[in-house]
Amino acid sequence: MRTLVEVIRGRGMTDPRLLAAFAATPRDRFVPPRSAVRAQFDEPIPIGHGQPTSQPSLIAQMIDVLRLSGTETVLEIGTGYGYQTALLARLARRVYSLERHADLAEHARANLAGFGVTNVEVLVGDGTAGLPAHAPYDAVIVSAAAPSVPAPLASQLAEGGRLVMPIASEIADIVTLYTKRQDQLTRLRSLTPAQFVPLVGEHSKMHD
Ligand code: SAH
Repeated sequence: MRTLVEVIRGRGMTDPRLLAAFAATPRDRFVPPRSAVRAQFDEPIPIGHGQPTSQPSLIAQMIDVLRLSGTETVLEIGTGYGYQTALLARLARRVYSLERHADLAEHARANLAGFGVTNVEVLVGDGTAGLPAHAPYDAVIVSAAAPSVPAPLASQLAEGGRLVMPIASEIADIVTLYTKRQDQLTRLRSLTPAQFVPLVGEHSKMHD
């Protein structure tokens, strides 16, 4: 059976830092214990509240386009159990992660601390409002879908920064990459269709 790193490399991702981050981050520590054996497969896994932890190859695609070099401050919306958070923590300087479900945030904190990750702050709250206290962010990654990028996230992105998010349409969610130029959020390209849970919050027009 292929390892997750082999699967991700097979999808055309070659950045050695990205591949090393996946190799160094055991996914089974970031899923509910009863699902630990499934963690080796490239598939989503339920984590409670009807939420999944995303498919690793999809996480890899989204992180890859952020082009993190290790100096960045990153804002993540939708912490879940903290797997993607752990990967981001390895690839950037500092990560702020917002999760709307307090118990999921608690699991993520425990999982990250248990794995020795220290450059992450997990906060409970509505990620559609972003986190103005630590803005601007060099990179923003959103793990739930809405019809458009919530305005606070666009305004908290640094000039030249990168934002990746699934944009909900009737047929599928289209993972889309943006940057900020002359203070305007600018769409760079679509990455892939996918299925995400809704981004539920004040600035997203989405509901449970
Ligand atoms: N990055 C996680 C994804 C978990 S699923 C992973 O791959 O493991 C998406 C998460 O987004 C869920 O935990 C859900 O509770 C959270 N979420 C949805 N809307 C949110 C919002 N407005 N603010 C913060 N978190 C939100």
